[in-house]
Amino acid sequence: MSYLFKNYLRANIEFIKANGNELIDQTGRSYIDFSSGIGVTNLGFNEDVKKAVEQQLQLIWHSPNIYKSQLQEKVAEKLIRTDDYVAFFCNSGTEANEAAIKLARKATGKTEIIAFHQSFHGRTYGSMSATGQDAIKLNFEPVVPGFKFAEFNNFSSFKSLVTKDTAAVMLELIQGESGVMPANKTFIQQLVEFCNQHHILVIIDEIQTGIGRTGKLFAYEHYDIIPDIITLAKGLGNGIPVGALLGKRNISGAFGYGSHGTTFGGNRLAMAAALKTLEIVNDSNFLESVYHKGQYLLNCLNKAFIDHPRVTDIRGKGLMIGIETTCNINEIVSKARTKGLIVLTAGTNVIRLLPPLTITNEQIEEGASILKESFNELDLE
Ligand SMILES: *Cc1c(COP(=O)(O)O)cnc(C)c1O
Repeated sequence: MSYLFKNYLRANIEFIKANGNELIDQTGRSYIDFSSGIGVTNLGFNEDVKKAVEQQLQLIWHSPNIYKSQLQEKVAEKLIRTDDYVAFFCNSGTEANEAAIKLARKATGKTEIIAFHQSFHGRTYGSMSATGQDAIKLNFEPVVPGFKFAEFNNFSSFKSLVTKDTAAVMLELIQGESGVMPANKTFIQQLVEFCNQHHILVIIDEIQTGIGRTGKLFAYEHYDIIPDIITLAKGLGNGIPVGALLGKRNISGAFGYGSHGTTFGGNRLAMAAALKTLEIVNDSNFLESVYHKGQYLLNCLNKAFIDHPRVTDIRGKGLMIGIETTCNINEIVSKARTKGLIVLTAGTNVIRLLPPLTITNEQIEEGASILKESFNELDLE
């Protein structure tokens, strides 16, 4: 008997320890991690992050947001890099998106937000209402009004939804949960140019793509655009819960005193973890290594599946990679697990790989070869 809601389908395995990029289960068996939690422990179980949290724990682990926080200032400065943005810290991705939706409405005085089909922005009412997947909203209606959905990578579909009441557009640059679907560069540039001309704010959800995942600190850097609002969470604290909203300074007045807040946001342990994580990730050599590892993993996968009739596409950026397949993805996940590799799914037909950014070439080779074996064994059955 379990005392938990059954809202998760839990595999019959418990990780009780971790060592760098490897996970260790209750029987002592170890697994190569190609998931980073779900894009969270991007540096693996990193000793420097652990030490930073331990040191902060010795000092003080909570102080409310009615007092100053040098740690929040330092993390914000590391994230922002120019004076154009300011930060608000919360505890999760969905909270960061809630804040983005509220900021966009208040700063523009307009109410409509255009999001995209197959997007994922979180599970609370605002973020869920911005999510373009009906299954996520099923039986939770009525959702928050004011959200419209355009076809991803289709500018005219977006444009046809714009009205004088459009406050913002909200999107992921690689749709993560629905299948690792990258946005086209021309689409994004057209979209952002149009929005800038029409005073529509651009909200980029970098909760999964941010913090080095794609080989840049933020995925938007691949697209040569400047978002008005950026949301972050997953990898930011390398596993200590934290979310963040970055907003352009020129709209930040909408979040004046008393307008928005959270008790736990910017918690000292989370900030200590985030600061150390950013010190490691926001380094051009480190980010370049992520790019090269991503290329290496793509090469290994392309080689492994070159003639595979049931692998229909391999795509992604940096270390965010999707393998589209006609095989049963849940069976692949469990086959790989029995062989010592942890992978994720996305959508209905994609194996999603989000290895720690610290993954080694040997671990990449071993992981790719386990994946190949897993696909081949399924075919024989
Ligand atoms: C995971 C995710 C969220 C939600 O984050 P939570 O911390 O689970 O609330 C929102 N947007 C994207 C793109 C995500 O990947």
